[in-house]
Amino acid sequence: MTTEEIQIVSSLQQQGLGYKKIASLTGISANTVKAYCRRHRVLSADELQAFCRGCGKPIQRIPQAKPRQFCSDACRMRFWNSHRDEIRHRAVYTFCCPCCGKEFQSFGNPNRKYCSRECVANARRKGGVIDGG
Ligand SMILES: [Zn+2]
Ligand SMILES: [Zn+2]
Repeated sequence: MTTEEIQIVSSLQQQGLGYKKIASLTGISANTVKAYCRRHRVLSADELQAFCRGCGKPIQRIPQAKPRQFCSDACRMRFWNSHRDEIRHRAVYTFCCPCCGKEFQSFGNPNRKYCSRECVANARRKGGVIDGG
């Protein structure tokens, strides 16, 4: 490939295009582009840059390393602690199962109808209407 071709291929690669697409856009053979892309794997900005789910600060990622979601352990703990609260505060709905008559609770899902998978299956066998479950 010429220097010019390499520049075009690598810039298309950085835009996240696959080698087939690059090949069809540039007219360079797919095998050549594929070989080039394999040798010069470019990480996109998104892949290199992540943001902490705790404080929102950017985390510089190390290529080939496992992606990180938090900048620090403190942020990870804070995030999961607040997440746990969300789960705990989720609405609880109480229903009466039309199949077995048992009262049951659904966490965060107001559309449940039957208390269990067995009751859904029973209702289906009897030809009942299935709404969620
Ligand atoms: Zn953080
Ligand atoms: Zn039931």
